[in-house]
Amino acid sequence: MTATTKLPFQAEVAQLLHLVTHSLYSNKEIFLRELISNASDACDKLRFEGIDNPALYEDAPSLEVRVSFDKKARTLTIADNGIGLSKQEAIDNLGTIAKSGTKDFMSKLSGDQKADAQLIGQFGVGFYSGFIVADRITVESRRAGLPADQGVRWASGGAGDFEVDDIERAQRGTSVTLHLRDDADEYLNAWKLKQVIGKYSDHISLPILMEKEEWKEGENDQPGDMVKTGEWEPVNKASALWTRPKKDISAEQYAEFYKTISHDYEDPLAWSHNRVEGSTEYTQLLYIPAKAPMDLWNREKTAGVKLYVKRVFIMDDAEALMPGYLRFVKGVIDSADLPLNVSRELLQESRDVKAIREGSTKRVLSMLEDLAKKQKAAADSAAGKIDVGSGESVPAPEPTEVTDVVDKNDAVPAAEAAAEFAGDEDAGKYAKFYAEFGAVLKEGLGEDFGNRERIAKLLRFASTTTDTVSVGFADYKARMKEGQEAIYYITADSLAAAKNSPQLELFKKKGIEVLLMTDRVDEWALNYLQDFDGTPLQSVAKGAVDLGTLQDEAEKKAAEEAAETFKPVLEKLKEALKAKAQDVRVTTRLVDSPACLVVQDGGMSTQLARMLKQAGQ
Ligand code: ADP
Ligand code: MG
Repeated sequence: MTATTKLPFQAEVAQLLHLVTHSLYSNKEIFLRELISNASDACDKLRFEGIDNPALYEDAPSLEVRVSFDKKARTLTIADNGIGLSKQEAIDNLGTIAKSGTKDFMSKLSGDQKADAQLIGQFGVGFYSGFIVADRITVESRRAGLPADQGVRWASGGAGDFEVDDIERAQRGTSVTLHLRDDADEYLNAWKLKQVIGKYSDHISLPILMEKEEWKEGENDQPGDMVKTGEWEPVNKASALWTRPKKDISAEQYAEFYKTISHDYEDPLAWSHNRVEGSTEYTQLLYIPAKAPMDLWNREKTAGVKLYVKRVFIMDDAEALMPGYLRFVKGVIDSADLPLNVSRELLQESRDVKAIREGSTKRVLSMLEDLAKKQKAAADSAAGKIDVGSGESVPAPEPTEVTDVVDKNDAVPAAEAAAEFAGDEDAGKYAKFYAEFGAVLKEGLGEDFGNRERIAKLLRFASTTTDTVSVGFADYKARMKEGQEAIYYITADSLAAAKNSPQLELFKKKGIEVLLMTDRVDEWALNYLQDFDGTPLQSVAKGAVDLGTLQDEAEKKAAEEAAETFKPVLEKLKEALKAKAQDVRVTTRLVDSPACLVVQDGGMSTQLARMLKQAGQ
């Protein structure tokens, strides 16, 4: 055996640990969720590596987690027989922060102890959360496949450094022992532990076992106590949540599962749980978060959707399972059809995975359509357009479960009673979703041609009639003027700039609605949408605006005459602006302003040109 090696924590870990141990903790119990989820991940990893190398199972084929405590020693131990850690892995994984989520978290720290403590409670910080309740943690582990003398003991008091030793360990896997702080007595109690496990870990597909206890009468006049019986029993349901029938899953369980897979602390906005049958069969449980994550704009972010094959975790390659414009979706897809032993690379190319991706894309779009529909129904009923019976609002489950029952071939559930949800909280959900993710969704116009029309229907904009981002193309079309032949829009950096653009003067005068687009992505995305439902889209800042029959004959004539009269002036202006402008012409589009810039039809807008210039192009 070699001597103990002392190693310092990576600076960020030390900083994090300081925070964990020095902050009052409102949500202590999450440490158990984090440690059990690590145990479960370790078992998932063994299952995955075991596909190609069954010898890794050694002589313990059934994977499990055991939670035990020792009142006298004041220790709590979470042990698994998963993949385990080699010495080097223990040093690397328990001494540094590799997780991007935790790094993001670190960057959010404000230095204000109270605010930061709250942040940790929300994020959870994985393994290190053990130090919330422990002043010393000992980890003993042996990696599956390594000989018994290559075990490792890792130990730390949660200050600047940790120690590692070589140990002999017959048992594969990892046990994490927490030496509890004085104020963490409550975790030396079976009832309390079961309660916390039930709350956070019921959906873990692995049995979590605890030793049965029996009441024993006191001896020699000592009061009685609970004694361990040596018999272990499962304390969780141990079936992967998504494999259970929907009727057996409560809204809280769905929400809790969402939080564990997403590392989000808020409830999801909506979810959809289905078994899809057909040529490729799979179960999907997809969630729409209520809030955009910090890394929404980071294209290398970790994936939101995990692929399982018969409950074995295979990959969470973002793009193989969800198109980029739906990268905010979280969830699980479990397929029974895919071969377990193909490489991840091959899987990404597989037809079945492509079918799953398409099916899941459609599912998400129909969830969004449903939210939009409920919102519209509520708005209409508020405006008195639909009579919702007695006018009582009907309470809906929170959050909304958008689809129900098993559905074949991914068909969108037909006309659901939208009015049922009118007037309640669901009303605002689409707007909430859109405020967080609308700009991402727009990328779909350029990315997913097959679903372009469905995506276009889901888009919302502000317009000259309303400042709120609530006008869909369909709404716009429904209020178009008699004789109006195009959907007009303007792109600008801000709502104020859009609204005050001289290019809108004529439209204002004529009372023609113009959509105001202020997202950076609008200009690019709109390039991919020539028309909506047969009506062309027309930028008011491009080319000569022809309002067709909406324009007075007299006005047109006056303009033509003016063009004649001012021909010499125009020629001079053209000459003077030769290097800068392609053409100078008399226009009818202005009412109050003397002049404005327009872009040639089919040309790059001034907005896009400015963006490219900023980007150095
Ligand atoms: P995360 O689980 O998100 O990766 P954690 O801080 O919870 O972050 O854990 C850090 C790393 O430590 C894990 O990625 C894993 O490599 C290792 N680890 C933690 N617990 C175990 C365990 N029970 N068995 C094997 N490895 C573990
Ligand atoms: Mg973890």
